[in-house]
Amino acid sequence: MSSESGQMCYCCSQKSFEACCEPFLLGTAFPATAEELMRSRYSAYVTKNVPYIMETTSPKFRKYYSAKSILEWAASSTWISLEILSASEKRVKFVATYLDGNGELTRHTEDSRFEKIGDRWYFRDGN
Ligand SMILES: [Zn+2]
Repeated sequence: MSSESGQMCYCCSQKSFEACCEPFLLGTAFPATAEELMRSRYSAYVTKNVPYIMETTSPKFRKYYSAKSILEWAASSTWISLEILSASEKRVKFVATYLDGNGELTRHTEDSRFEKIGDRWYFRDGN
């Protein structure tokens, strides 16, 4: 199993990685809420799990995102923290703080929209 057991989750939930985002990233469980999906996608950026980010993007919206640019962003950034500002059933507003490729501290604020297809949550878009 994971060599990182006991480690706190990347998404700043104060839970262990194993009890939080890891099962979602491994595909052994699926997020039950939009907020859980949002958190797991942040953890996917931190761990550079681009397939997870693509798979959890709504099939209708996937064409607007490129695996290459996601990987470039994920890999060139040093992820510091995630803060959820507000969450409702289908929307999550958050701030992701990271050092960009030039080492500059950046706060990315986004209001993300999510949708449920079948029993799975997907990211739609954000602004
Ligand atoms: Zn987490």
